[in-house]
Amino acid sequence: MNKIEHIGIAVKNLEDSNNLFAKLFGKSHYKIEAVATEGVKTSFFQVGENKIELLEATTNDSAIAKFIAKNGEGIHHIAFAVDDILAEIERLKKEGFKVLHETPKKGADNKLVAFLHPKSSNGVLIELCQEIKE
Ligand code: ZN
Repeated sequence: MNKIEHIGIAVKNLEDSNNLFAKLFGKSHYKIEAVATEGVKTSFFQVGENKIELLEATTNDSAIAKFIAKNGEGIHHIAFAVDDILAEIERLKKEGFKVLHETPKKGADNKLVAFLHPKSSNGVLIELCQEIKE
C-alpha cells in the first residue's frame, strides 16, 4: 500500500460544501464528477500533496445517503493508492480483512477502486485505488 490518495468526506450539499472548503483551503475544487452507479456526485480539492474528496448522495439508497442518515456529515473513508489492486485484495483477504468488492470497480478520478468493510478495520472504511492507465 502506498500513500494516502485522498480522504473522502460525506456532505449533504456539494455546492455549499464546495464553497465552505474553498474558503478553508484558499482555493476551489479542480473537478466535479458524478459516479451514477454509486449514486454520488463528488468534487476534488488538491491540498498540497493530498486530495480531499467531497461526496454528496444523488439517490436515497446510495451508501453516502445511508452514512449521513446514520452518522451525519463527516469523514467517510480514507483511500490508499496501490500499484496492483488485485494483488492487494488477495493479500488483504489472506490477512483476514473483509473486502467489499472482490472485483474492483470504476470509481471517480480515473481509478479502479475496492473497499474494505469498516468492521474489519477498526471502524475505518478503507478504499484501495489504482490509477487506470490508458
Ligand atoms: Zn474515495
